[in-house]
Amino acid sequence: MKICPLIKHLSSVLCFMGISGFALAKDILIVNIRLIDGTGAPARKADVRLRGDRIIAVGVLKALPGDSIVDGRGQVLAPGFIDSHSHHLGYLRRNPDGLATANQGITTIVIGQDGDGLPMDSLRVLLSRSRFAVNIASYTGHTMLRSAVMGEDDLNRPATDAELMQMRSILAQEMKHGSLGLSTGLEYEGAFYSSRAEVVSLARVASELGGRYISHIRSEDLKMDDAVEEIIAIGRLTGMPVKISHIKLAARDDWGQAPRVIARLKRARAEGIDITADAYPYTFWNSTLRVLFPDRRYSDTASARLAVEELCDPDSSMLVRYLPEPDWEGRMLSDIARMRRESPAQTLLHLVARAEAYERTHPDAEGVEAIAGKSMTAGDVAAFLAWPHTNICSDGNAGRHPRGFGAFTRVLGRYVRESGLMDLETAVHKMTGLTARHLGIRDRGLIRPGYLADLVLFDPERVIDRATLEDSHAISDGISGVWVNGKQVYEQGKSTGVRPGRLVLRPAPDVKKR
Ligand SMILES: [Zn+2]
Repeated sequence: MKICPLIKHLSSVLCFMGISGFALAKDILIVNIRLIDGTGAPARKADVRLRGDRIIAVGVLKALPGDSIVDGRGQVLAPGFIDSHSHHLGYLRRNPDGLATANQGITTIVIGQDGDGLPMDSLRVLLSRSRFAVNIASYTGHTMLRSAVMGEDDLNRPATDAELMQMRSILAQEMKHGSLGLSTGLEYEGAFYSSRAEVVSLARVASELGGRYISHIRSEDLKMDDAVEEIIAIGRLTGMPVKISHIKLAARDDWGQAPRVIARLKRARAEGIDITADAYPYTFWNSTLRVLFPDRRYSDTASARLAVEELCDPDSSMLVRYLPEPDWEGRMLSDIARMRRESPAQTLLHLVARAEAYERTHPDAEGVEAIAGKSMTAGDVAAFLAWPHTNICSDGNAGRHPRGFGAFTRVLGRYVRESGLMDLETAVHKMTGLTARHLGIRDRGLIRPGYLADLVLFDPERVIDRATLEDSHAISDGISGVWVNGKQVYEQGKSTGVRPGRLVLRPAPDVKKR
């Protein structure tokens, strides 16, 4: 068919006026790169052509008239990183350009973590009103379901049968609206009192609808082994993939035991259970003071002593948020204890009691207290990062923990280049292709024709995190460019202001696998 000359003319006029839509949008051709495609395969020389939001060709490619050429200057081009455990949404609502995510090469975040989150419809409405520079996928939180059905103030018990039926039906709806599956935060109060039967019953709903299960397991310290057995049992009973969120050993007694835990996970996999994990590259976590009380006895002296002796190091555990006494934010637990002339255990009791009192008088306050608790060893962290079935996550929220800005670049700089824990291709795989497979996300996570054009260009000799506890929003070095759905959102330390992020949905289960 001949194109009418008038239409041709009209389209060039429209293009001149900045109105495209007549298929005149330029292709982007990225040249002079080392391609790491996300599969774990060795880096190779190749060019990549983007059209619209997709990658359309990979290989030795010729520039065509009208191409917009990006010179990679010999750097690595990789799929955009997928953060399988993120708390960045609150930050993104205030900072839609997403510097925290983009500066470390993240192009998709997965929210609905630790049992929390938003209903898929609310998320859809949010994304139709505000655009972000990063894609968002979500799990459905167990605690969110409990709060909706049982009431926020009545969670310290297992659900009744009638409540469970209601939760199951909401979860089924959420799955139909594209949730990736069920997430639980069993160590946190809102879900700690749920029975295993309750969790399994909900997990079965997610499983039947093609979803997955991820869990901040019931204990990361004193009862870690039981908690690992619980998630293995859920995998066995439901047959669906299960993932341990931010796997760690947070009790002094367990330090050095990562190989034993990994051996247990390997046996489960050998039994046919699809169990995986994600992990972030730091020896300290960020959570509430109250997770330091595994038996939930917040005014018990012996429990507080156990917390500061076994579960965190008060000399390097920082109070990062404390609404009752904001001046104490940024101080180590032991500093506050010295100032108050008491033991760290007494200080911990005081901090929790005051936080509880504050919550009673300020019922709308959220996140009244938080601590960055130093309680893991570098050896265990490295062992978990290196396990072939672990993908990288940040668990970040752009607060005081540096992981919000630096988790992924920290792995590339410190664990790949400096310590050689893994090679670059493996690290990229653990941030992209492996993660997409773990989450059940299609069309992202690899550089391959037909995939969505989520990309990161970085200098492997320079890439490193700069964020620390003291300066937690410092920008990473070495990330040169980030593209989300074919649009560049980040260039040399700055956001471009473009916000092409989308809601990423679980693919419909009835789509036949090729
Ligand atoms: Zn968690």
